[in-house]
Amino acid sequence: MADEVDIANELMDNEVSRALGKLRQGQSNIKTAGAKTCIECGEKMPQPRRQLGFNLCVSCAEDAERRKTLYL
Ligand SMILES: [Zn+2]
Repeated sequence: MADEVDIANELMDNEVSRALGKLRQGQSNIKTAGAKTCIECGEKMPQPRRQLGFNLCVSCAEDAERRKTLYL
């Protein structure tokens, strides 16, 4: 029964730590398309992904997909 709450808390923790990481890296002003670095974790974006206009690295994109599934 508490599973949904636990998952939500975990996601919140992730979001908070990511936001803090961005602040530390001075990445609070992030362009929304074709980012040089992942908007989630600040990892350098692979050139092909960047050219396709992605702004999430592979692992963060997978995370986002998982979250989408979770909230459907
Ligand atoms: Zn990333």
